[in-house]
Amino acid sequence: MACTGCALLCEDIEVRDGEVRHACRIGTAHILNRQQIDPMVDQEVVDIDDAIRRAAALLADAERPMFLGFGNSITETQATGVRLAEKIGAGIDPCSVHTSLIDDIVHSRVKTCTLPEVRDYADVILFWGADPMNTHPRLMSGYAYYPRGKNRQHGWETDRTAIAIDVRRSHTASICKEMYEIVPGRNIEFIDALMLALRNKVPKTVYDSKRVLKLAGTLKKAEFGVIFAGPGLVGSVPRGAIIRLMDKLNEFSDFRILPLYSPYNLRSIAAVDTAAVTTATTVMADAACEHPGGCTPTLASLREADCLLCVGFDLASSLPQACDIDASIIVIDPSETLTAGCADVVIPCAAGGVDLAGTAVRMDGAKIDLPCITKNGQTGAGARTRVSDASIMNRLLEAV
Ligand code: SF4
Repeated sequence: MACTGCALLCEDIEVRDGEVRHACRIGTAHILNRQQIDPMVDQEVVDIDDAIRRAAALLADAERPMFLGFGNSITETQATGVRLAEKIGAGIDPCSVHTSLIDDIVHSRVKTCTLPEVRDYADVILFWGADPMNTHPRLMSGYAYYPRGKNRQHGWETDRTAIAIDVRRSHTASICKEMYEIVPGRNIEFIDALMLALRNKVPKTVYDSKRVLKLAGTLKKAEFGVIFAGPGLVGSVPRGAIIRLMDKLNEFSDFRILPLYSPYNLRSIAAVDTAAVTTATTVMADAACEHPGGCTPTLASLREADCLLCVGFDLASSLPQACDIDASIIVIDPSETLTAGCADVVIPCAAGGVDLAGTAVRMDGAKIDLPCITKNGQTGAGARTRVSDASIMNRLLEAV
């Protein structure tokens, strides 16, 4: 079975007698999560059919609806969500700083690779603005650092060089051979300095130029280099800077990039998102956005909408002021969220891969089957059977 606790989608998970095997702490907590919410309208508990009916009415009446999230939904739900968005003229924003990079990868503007290729060939691995030890705990042991691979038979001690570039000494940095500390907000200056160093020029920079030159030397000698790009990188530099850096690195060696984000099926919705853009009439994540931080919604862009549908996305946790805007808010989520506390309609749903089967796209583009981990949709004692978000979306599609 597969874990949907993060975008690594580990496929060796077993659950026996309520005990989860092989999953990391994040995956175990995700699979055993019991924080289910009740269906609600205007913060009053109601029957789920009433909640769906009310949501359908709000969506049908909306003039500028906007859908947020879908990164934590199975591909089948996303497809229905896109059809619903097209039908009512809604925009879909996956609400992630990684959408631009995924778009560049999908359209081959930067070189990428699969996770098994990282395991088999990577000799220089950069964790940039990323801390997978805490966000994707099995990445290091499964693919990126510790395992032996086809061309990496001697293990991490001699075969791989892991380098962390981050604003702080993260857990991941503590196991890397080198760590480069970024001055907060000055990632782009580090990239500029590195680009100069790659051309054998001594950069005049706030960073230690000798160390930047040393890093450039290591990257140039890489046989198969991989950058794991976390939110600390993609959220702080224009997307063009990453493309330029990748082009420069590939003049000297073979360098790939993989986005490191948490929503387990973000790659799938970020890819179908571009198709929805053409029919959407409201504010959308603009695929050509050049602003640092990608194109996550701002308060100003949310105020353009009169109805927000949050699917598996906790808007209020990243933008608490969103609760105060005039738009009606509909939440579809397996768990209790901050946004549910201020939503007009709350519809609980099953969690993909836990009590709902489907498919998803892993962070490296591999399509993964997600069998249902729990029997009969029950996650354990005290848990209730939950309706799938795909069937909720279908009912909304029929109703509007
Ligand atoms: S690394 Fe991610 S997918 Fe794998 S078990 Fe942990 S949370 Fe689940």
